[in-house]
Amino acid sequence: MSETRTLNDRYSELGRALVDSEPLLAHIRDSEATICYLGSDYAKKSKGRTVFGECERVADKNKWAIPADFLIVVYEPNCADMDDEHLSRLLFHELLHVGIDVDDEGVEKYSVRPHDMEDFRACVERWGVDWISG
Ligand SMILES: [Zn+2]
Repeated sequence: MSETRTLNDRYSELGRALVDSEPLLAHIRDSEATICYLGSDYAKKSKGRTVFGECERVADKNKWAIPADFLIVVYEPNCADMDDEHLSRLLFHELLHVGIDVDDEGVEKYSVRPHDMEDFRACVERWGVDWISG
């Protein structure tokens, strides 16, 4: 099936508020990294499980078309009944995937951090194991 993604102001506002206030997201706040927030009309599933959102790095070769370093995608059919508080949990999780390393010359290197990073435990610690469904 085809997927349509569109820029979403609500997600970027919620995401910016998180980046501005969350200690665990200070590495984003202190960096040059730019993040684009998109809504998708695709009801994504992976290995039989519902996917609510995703964080992707924009490949250098695609930056002429997408003026950002990272994309955060919300799969809207899967998040239809989420209020702002619930969406913020999802966006916080996706923002934890934003990986920024600075090399010896001070150049920022971007990557998508995997779930085994300790920071991801914050979601479960704050909101329990049902942090996304509850
Ligand atoms: Zn994740």
